[in-house]
Amino acid sequence: MPNQWPTVRSRALFSSWMWWRPWRLLIDAGDGVSDSLGPEASAIRTVAITHLHSDHQLGLPALLSSRQPGSLQTGGPLQVLVPAGDPRLPYLEAWIASLGLFDRSAEDGDPALTWTPVRVGDRIDLDSIRQIRAFEVTHAVGRPCLGYVVSTSKQTLKSTYRGLSGSAIRDARAALGDEAVMESVRQPLLVHTGDAAGIPDRTGLYNAQCLVADCTFLSVDDRDTPSHWALDEVLELATELRPAVLALQHVSGRYNRQTLVADIQQRLARACWTTPTVLIDDRSWTPLTHADVP
Ligand SMILES: [Zn+2]
Ligand SMILES: [Zn+2]
Repeated sequence: MPNQWPTVRSRALFSSWMWWRPWRLLIDAGDGVSDSLGPEASAIRTVAITHLHSDHQLGLPALLSSRQPGSLQTGGPLQVLVPAGDPRLPYLEAWIASLGLFDRSAEDGDPALTWTPVRVGDRIDLDSIRQIRAFEVTHAVGRPCLGYVVSTSKQTLKSTYRGLSGSAIRDARAALGDEAVMESVRQPLLVHTGDAAGIPDRTGLYNAQCLVADCTFLSVDDRDTPSHWALDEVLELATELRPAVLALQHVSGRYNRQTLVADIQQRLARACWTTPTVLIDDRSWTPLTHADVP
């Protein structure tokens, strides 16, 4: 995991994005992301859009424009993942196409922009060791909404060999070969829910190093329609998924920012909450309980 908190902005309705520099990954591209990152935006290799609500994608054209060849920021090929099948996708594609990036080539001959519509379950390599997978979240009716999990692979014993002594395992590996004894499993690093009020299939999302969850509301009584989680529901989710660190994001602008941290801390204390938890708000990560960088 990165050794510093990623650069972020997240406020419901206005803008959401998260920049994980060591992985060269931007999740969502809300308004202002290009301006906020400045020349750093040239380091982005993958942009993963969770869904096409405006607060998650309005910054994309500006971001891509800033990487036009001939500008200051020409960071090489860029892969953009977008939810396949959204009825608004053709409009966004037409807008992006008008920038001319599809037609140009980077220095190494690859296209300057790879535009990849993704569906639930699709896996894309971020680099040689990390992979990103799209999973389904419940959020907006009639359009695909995705969460993303970034994972790395690790070698582990196949179930039939677990519980054997060290020497028995060594003998088996010597006799049968590593492939017969070991298997590769995905270890989740980051689970990012995007905007969500549910995750129908949670396979592969357990024990991540960090869970970034939609926490638009502090109380279920504050919302009209269940398209975003409230704090108690996020705590329920985190109790099940057991991340090392929980990050609350996308908190509604209706809450008073002067008292927001204290208000959430009070609620966490009432719930006897002990998982390291942070608040992602306007460009900051604020520890709510003791939390080290994951
Ligand atoms: Zn949103
Ligand atoms: Zn949304």
